Amino acid sequence: MTRILAGNWKMNLTLAEARALLRSVGDGDLNADALLTVVFPPMSALAVLAAERRTSDPRIGAQSCHADPKGAMTGEVSPEMARDAGAEFALVGHSERRRLFCESDQIVQAKLKGVLRAGLKPLLCIGETLAERERRETRDVLSRQLTRALDGLPPRAPLWVAYEPVWAIGTGVVATVDEVAEAHAWVLEELSRMGRGSAAGHPPVLYGGSVDPKNASALAALPDVDGFLVGGASLQADSFLAIGGALLKSERRATPVD
Ligand code: PEP
Repeated sequence: MTRILAGNWKMNLTLAEARALLRSVGDGDLNADALLTVVFPPMSALAVLAAERRTSDPRIGAQSCHADPKGAMTGEVSPEMARDAGAEFALVGHSERRRLFCESDQIVQAKLKGVLRAGLKPLLCIGETLAERERRETRDVLSRQLTRALDGLPPRAPLWVAYEPVWAIGTGVVATVDEVAEAHAWVLEELSRMGRGSAAGHPPVLYGGSVDPKNASALAALPDVDGFLVGGASLQADSFLAIGGALLKSERRATPVD
């Protein structure tokens, strides 16, 4: 089964730096049959990177796009425009978008629909804040974010999910193996309850939040972790490739993924 290594470059890298990083990741020669690699560059670099990719991986995704196909939305890029620029994937619902740009569950749902309309594959990010975890609301938050995001979507719509506890993103505090195992099991249960997965196959569920080459192996061994969404450690080819290596090396039962 193919596992997934995704890199979110956020608002970093000049065009020259982005090209160099893409080349180094491509040269890393991660086994493309066993690992699908995708990077999410800043929009300023997306079209150039998509055009000059030399191998099939890494693939290219957009970090964010508006829900609508076009219109008077100064500064925004539509899913159709991202696709036109060469994106195959789009992040939706990243916690930085929810927190810093006030993207509600309703906006996340609209964006998800827009991304699917444009033919992009969405990587839906969900996760609880520290306060929510301390109030023992993690399951409720994950259920709510999933339910609201997926409401009205066709059951077979393409979907990847990333469990990203907000308190672990960019903080260097990684969730424990037990916390990740429990959250992923819950996400899979909820997806199944919503008719989006069963023992026979389910959308891939990635973990994101301060993954680095040191902690990747233990997390990669978890049966319900289908890959990683990596922020900070995706900005250097060697650390990103090492995380990919950990996914490739990990021994876990094969889970069929839609
Ligand atoms: C992210 O931005 O999705 C992320 C997981 O970042 P980091 O790896 O830096 O915590």
